[in-house]
Amino acid sequence: MLSQPRSRREFAAWADVPDADWDDWRWQFRNRIATPEQLEAAFPLTTSERDAARRSRDLFRLGITPHWATLIDPDDPQCPMRRQAIPLLDELSTSAFEHTDPLDEDAHRPVPGVVHRYPDRVLLLVTHECPLYCRYCTRRRIVGDHDGNHSDTLHAALDYIRATPAVRDVLVSGGEPLSLGDRRLEEILAALRGIPHVEIVRIGTRAPVAMPQRITPALVAMLRRHHPLWLNTHFNHPLELAPPATRAAMERLVDAGIPTGNQTVLLAGVNDCPVVMKRLLHELVKLRCRPYYLYSCDHSQGLSHFRVPIERGLQILESLWGHTSGYAIPQFVVDAPGGGGKIPLLPDYRAGEGLLRNFEGRLFRYADAGSAGPPAPAPCPQCGGRHGPHAPEPFTATAR
Ligand code: SF4
Repeated sequence: MLSQPRSRREFAAWADVPDADWDDWRWQFRNRIATPEQLEAAFPLTTSERDAARRSRDLFRLGITPHWATLIDPDDPQCPMRRQAIPLLDELSTSAFEHTDPLDEDAHRPVPGVVHRYPDRVLLLVTHECPLYCRYCTRRRIVGDHDGNHSDTLHAALDYIRATPAVRDVLVSGGEPLSLGDRRLEEILAALRGIPHVEIVRIGTRAPVAMPQRITPALVAMLRRHHPLWLNTHFNHPLELAPPATRAAMERLVDAGIPTGNQTVLLAGVNDCPVVMKRLLHELVKLRCRPYYLYSCDHSQGLSHFRVPIERGLQILESLWGHTSGYAIPQFVVDAPGGGGKIPLLPDYRAGEGLLRNFEGRLFRYADAGSAGPPAPAPCPQCGGRHGPHAPEPFTATAR
């Protein structure tokens, strides 16, 4: 596997592209590898890849930015970057437990463009387009389907959020929300900011990975006008963080006061390795990006070759706890099939009654609360905690 990205000069199609074009996100977007012929011209393909590029066309779109192409090792059929972007024939096989909509999102859409699964937050889908079509995409049933940007459904989606005071957190997603232009994005953010009960806006994006040129100073200046705004990135492998353009994009975001958190999908042949995972997490923290979730791969159709047993995920987590800073360790979650929501999973460190196991495997006796000592204060009637009155709801800061 490559340890550094390749130069674009190694690709016949892009050898003479001026820097001004290469560094322009719209050029990256327009010049994606999008057909089997373009893919074959860029890389020597295996038989499985060549067949799959043609036969998977109706299942899920092909799209690879020139930026991402420089991360692919042309000589290694097992390259993790390649695996995430170039189809394999495995995608054409479906297991009995797989579904087109494994998280039952369509059943939780009160209006098109909104998924409302949890009480206080919604997903706002603003486009179906992505610069890179990740072969493991859980939303592959709709992503890449057409080039729509949901402009026809956006009004109804915003009306729904306006009319639903329980919604305090909106995750702007898609597709790739940052594939919209600055003006369009700002209209959406301004509309959300105009809703008094929306406290937090988050943007879920893979742009810093697939098309870091998108994180322009102008975009960042616009985003910071809409604080409190968070950005959820999606890095899966340390090599994705190697390009200087990606590192500059991440620095630019954080320097603008935009907190970044990363979601990773645990993928066979990409990051199902404690060494690769730890390296990814360390690189993220160095860029002030907090590892947030490590997802078990969903049960979308044609993804069996990407799935990693839960036990293996727990082993990877166990290789991290105590062996690196807690700040670098994401929550390992399974998104329950059928719309059950995220279920966190942790290795079990309880080793019997009053006995705990540490990261080195040593056992310690631990006297749990209530097993000894003076009686605790009376429990709070609302929640059972042993504390004073709850803070008022919603919380308001008091002037001194
Ligand atoms: S960027 Fe996200 S939505 Fe787009 S293909 Fe990749 S995983 Fe799916």
